[in-house]
Amino acid sequence: MNQELLSFIASCPTAFQATAHSAQMLRTAGYTQLSESEAWQLQAGEGYFVTRNGSSLIAFRVPKGGFRGFMITASHCDSPCFKIKENAELADERFVRLSTEGYGGMIYSTWLDRPLSIAGRVLVKTPRGVETKLVDFGETAAMIPNVAIHMNRSVNKDTNYNPAVDLVPLYGGKDSAGSFRARVAALAGVAEEDVVTTDLYLYNPQPGVVWDAFISAPRLDDLQCAFSSLRAFLDAGEGDSARVCCIFDNEEVGSQTKQGAAGTFLYDVLHRVCESFGLADADYHRAVAHSFMLSCDNAHALHPNHPEYADKNHTVVINGGIVIKYNASQRYTSDAVSAALFELICREADVPVQRYANRADIPGGGTLGNIANAQVSLNTVDIGLAQLAMHSSYETAGAKDTAYMVRALTRFFEKSVIMERDGVYTLA
Ligand code: ZN
Repeated sequence: MNQELLSFIASCPTAFQATAHSAQMLRTAGYTQLSESEAWQLQAGEGYFVTRNGSSLIAFRVPKGGFRGFMITASHCDSPCFKIKENAELADERFVRLSTEGYGGMIYSTWLDRPLSIAGRVLVKTPRGVETKLVDFGETAAMIPNVAIHMNRSVNKDTNYNPAVDLVPLYGGKDSAGSFRARVAALAGVAEEDVVTTDLYLYNPQPGVVWDAFISAPRLDDLQCAFSSLRAFLDAGEGDSARVCCIFDNEEVGSQTKQGAAGTFLYDVLHRVCESFGLADADYHRAVAHSFMLSCDNAHALHPNHPEYADKNHTVVINGGIVIKYNASQRYTSDAVSAALFELICREADVPVQRYANRADIPGGGTLGNIANAQVSLNTVDIGLAQLAMHSSYETAGAKDTAYMVRALTRFFEKSVIMERDGVYTLA
């Protein structure tokens, strides 16, 4: 399972490649791609998927005998990194650097002094308009060099990285001036003048490793959950509910985009599924009441050097099983109802769960669940796998935990949550 996860991560340097790669996995498993711009003719017992912006994906499968509700997972496929600006080259008489800005909340120091590559999408001119091509340099294409300690004696004490000064990536010597766009065009297989615009990002190409009890790799947050949910979605047997696997872009920048969890993507897909099966608007609302969502995003494991950051009574550990995340301000959606339902499913699947809450004096982060609930409001629980160094360019998690997640989510997709009345539920 870990090797499969590592190869998934290597194939997904940005949200665009993650979406394309997930789409390929679905196609291989017999799923049909739909387009939002066309009419949908759906068959019960068949699987489908749809992408938006080429960077978010929703897959679903409706059981043969119709469905009462939806069993939904939501994870994200974007990671903190540097976005390359449109006028990319910053050339002087000695160097060519790349003009970038930060995407999401990175641990800056982890991006220095390591080979970096570049991937994303290119919009190219066609005779009738534009089309998207994915590109991946796939080799070392940039480096962000540190200043020597001799010039910066306090580097180990109080370094304050300025992204506009200290973190500008080196792309080449002066002779490489003017080559960047040509290289992008060559990778896209088009003439340079046909490259209209780009969305390109720096990424860490270092392969992941499994070592002792751990797995270390770039982008574990949140590709570990994206992979686990897609694997479980594909492996699960047929239940009485429609199963839905969402992998969203833009979680790291607040999700407020057309393809992010705050957009209408999930609502639109669920609504169109209902419509395709001849259900009325009232039936859509009933289906949502009989639905359940897992917001899957990694959690902070007890740190070996800094146990003091964990709440003493809610410490979660690597290889300790699935983490249920709680927050009184509801930045995590888990509440007594949703956590209880999920716990029962994990018990059935024989998967251990552990409970996480931030220390009361540490605000912590938010994620997808409560944001998605603004568009589609339903019982939702925030879960994840415990990891170290979240938002580093190379993160560490547990070697056993991916399999726990796949096992629990496989069971989840086979279940149904029936709302008998508000507060009373049957797990079927
Ligand atoms: Zn995340």
